[in-house]
Formats: sequence, structure tokens, C-alpha cells
Amino acid sequence: MSQETTLDGARVSVRVPAKVNLFLAVRGVRDDGYHELTTVLQTVSIFDELRVAVTGPPGQGHHPAARRRMRLVLRHGGQAGLPDGEANLAVRAGLLLGRAAGVLDGVTETAPAGPTTLLELAKAIPIAGGMAGGSADAAAALVALNELWRCELPRQRLRELAGELGSDVPFCVTGGTALASGRGTALAQVLCKGRFHWVVVPDAVPLRTGDVYRAWDERCEASEIEPDAVLQALRSADAVALGAALHNDLEPAAFALRPELADRKDRLIAAGALGAVLSGSGPTMLALVADKSHARAVADVVTPALGAPILATSPAGGPEVRASATPPRSRDPERPLK
Ligand code: ATP
Repeated sequence: MSQETTLDGARVSVRVPAKVNLFLAVRGVRDDGYHELTTVLQTVSIFDELRVAVTGPPGQGHHPAARRRMRLVLRHGGQAGLPDGEANLAVRAGLLLGRAAGVLDGVTETAPAGPTTLLELAKAIPIAGGMAGGSADAAAALVALNELWRCELPRQRLRELAGELGSDVPFCVTGGTALASGRGTALAQVLCKGRFHWVVVPDAVPLRTGDVYRAWDERCEASEIEPDAVLQALRSADAVALGAALHNDLEPAAFALRPELADRKDRLIAAGALGAVLSGSGPTMLALVADKSHARAVADVVTPALGAPILATSPAGGPEVRASATPPRSRDPERPLK
């Protein structure tokens, strides 16, 4: 963000965590084609960071009309599988917010050189790993740009916009621990005491969510299992009980597509984990452990056979504004806000 002039000196940085599904039951296929789910989601301490700023030649950023034709430009580290432009959920979230809040007039790729909103994305959440990385970035963009553009939309309105971007995005806007039903978007916050420790095993080869649900359609039955044991373990901060209660109905489907994932789960349990579960549609596998030193011990046993695991804790809050510099509104009274 250093090469361009940052207009008004305005910039915002938001850190956003990944998620794990501690429990996921598939109830069947709905009339609209989505699968009906009951799932318990929790944020995990693997973070992406999104920095946003309005940049451009000096003097152009102050005219409200110029700002309404602003372009959104995304920069990232060029990781394999990470899309550019509007294919990236962070940009889609920015365009949706800009239009909903009346800040942007529309898609602005053809706009004359003028002010640009630059989004710089530093990714640590595995891509296409079942940890909602794209959804987390969309949530980060909603929160960061709401602040940068001073839209002042309440979190509830951001959650509504989030629902238009993807099933996991409303949860990522809120963070913490939640019970979700329907497509995964109807959320209720869940009481979670204590902090849980994880050994996270990503996989370099992505698993497409659609392929996993198709495999579930072909070989699995709707399940009636309920999340009571997981909810009770969270309420009582009981890692042993949580390890025993972790559950994901998508595992048989994902394991049919990628048999090595079943082997990975067995290895983590054999290494002493309290439990292990595939996150969402995978392929990331998470092993629950008692504490930090237990995490190191389990990671040592499975390294290098399972690559380089990441040590993490949960819950990990929600999108967090880490740095913010926005000018006082009185300097730019004409600027459109809503
Ligand atoms: P989910 O569990 O929500 O289906 P996931 O965690 O398995 O998602 P993501 O990392 O969100 O996977 O990536 C899924 C796909 O979304 C990727 O293959 C990529 O093409 C696309 N995508 C769009 N924007 C992003 C982003 N900001 N980060 C990662 N992937 C993105």
C-alpha cells in the first residue's frame, strides 16, 4: 500500500479467523437443491488479514462523484487457487456492500483513472480446505470497507449482506461459536467456556465442496444425530468429552473420494489426540488435544508423515479491526455515506 498515495490517509486492517465444524449433520436435500444441515461452528486461530485503503492521484479522492466510480483492486500473495478480481469473495463482498450502502454506482473496471479502493489480502487460512477461508475474507471485506467508507451499517445488516455471499459468511461476520441450521445460515450463538487446542493438518490438494456433497448424495442417508454432546462439552469446557463428540456426516463422502484422509484421522487418534474431525467438506483434518504441550507431542508424532501441522486454539473471536485511520467526517461533508 506504500507505492500509491493513500487519499485522506484512510486505511483499515482487519484480521479474520478460520472456522471448524465441531459437529455437522446432513439432514437431506432441500427443494432448492441445498443440503439441510445442523452444524456447530467455531472460529480457530488461523488468520487472514485484509488491509484496505482508498488510493490514487492526490486531489481525486475528495470529489463524491469520483468516489462513486471507484475501482476495487485486489492484491494477494499469488497462492495457487486464489482467484483475482470479482471471482474473489473479498471483492464480491466489497461490491455488494458498496452498492447496498450507496457508496458505489456499480462495477467500475472501465472507470477513468481515479480513486481506487485497494484490498491487500495476506492469506494463512488453507485455500479450499473446508475452513471457510473465502467466506472469512468476505466477512473481513464487509467489516473493513464498512469502516473505511464510513457506511455505518450495523453488524446485523452486514450479516444480511453476508447471507447473499455464501452459507458460511454470516457466521464469519459474527465469529465465536454458533449452532447453525438450514443451509447453515440460521445462527444461534452457543455458550462455550474455556479454550480448546488443535493440531490442524491441511492438505495441499483441495477438495471441492460440490464434489463432496455429490458423493454424499450417492452413498449416504440423511442422519438424525443431534449435537447435544458437543454443546454440553462446550458448556462445561470438557476437552475429553468434546473429543469424543466431534462428528461430521460428510466424512464418509470425503473419505470415499480421498481414502488417505481416513488414514490421516486414524494416525492422529493413534498419536494420542482426544478426537479428530474433518472440517466441513475437507480436506483439512483437525485433531483435538488437551493443551499446548500435548499439541506439540501429537504434532511431533505425525510430522513429517502428515506434512507440517499448524497448532491452533479455539474459539478465536471474529473479524477484528487491528488498525484504523479514517479522517474526521467534517473534512469531507459531501461524501456519500448511505
Ligand atoms: P467452504 O468450506 O466455505 O466451501 P473452503 O474453506 O473449502 O470453503 P475456500 O478457501 O473458501 O474453501 O475456497 C473455496 C473456493 O473459493 C476456492 O477454490 C476459490 O476458487 C474460491 N475463492 C474465492 N475467494 C476466495 C478467497 N478470498 N480465499 C480462498 N478462496 C476463494
